[in-house]
Amino acid sequence: MLISAGDQIHGYKVVEYKDIVFGVASSSEGGGFRQIALKKMAEAATKLGATAVINFKMEIYPLTGSVQEATAYGNAVIADPLEGTISHQDRHQVKLEAYMPKAKAAESLIGKLQTAGDYMFVVCPKCGTKYKVETNEKGELHIKGFNDVDDDEPGLQIFCLRCGTKFTVPE
Ligand SMILES: [Zn+2]
Repeated sequence: MLISAGDQIHGYKVVEYKDIVFGVASSSEGGGFRQIALKKMAEAATKLGATAVINFKMEIYPLTGSVQEATAYGNAVIADPLEGTISHQDRHQVKLEAYMPKAKAAESLIGKLQTAGDYMFVVCPKCGTKYKVETNEKGELHIKGFNDVDDDEPGLQIFCLRCGTKFTVPE
């Protein structure tokens, strides 16, 4: 299975688009969970009759405690080798490290705060879903049922329930 983070594969021509494929694995499955997620994604692509996955991405989300979840996804396609290029067999090894997300590599999106009467809302910058924001005793903003998903970034980060976008709740 050829896997590319770009929308082309060098030496190949994308001749047919199949579907988006996903592979999800949790670190509770062991230290190789990123590879497991990648393998599951590749298996899903194979089931569709695809020979390659383009626009490949991997995201690592914290679940609970130290447990993380890896989601590998991309567009399953049929890619035919261009003439005079090396074969699938020579290229099927994927250097997964090249695609390893640095946890902070994701773009930093910031939600907009809106007030309506006594209520304050933060609006998802991608899809516009509103979340009610409350202030705790320390004057920090929080949203009921949401934990900060990114301790490495200042402020409160949440994942939008509707579109999955991670964004920062502005102070
Ligand atoms: Zn959203």
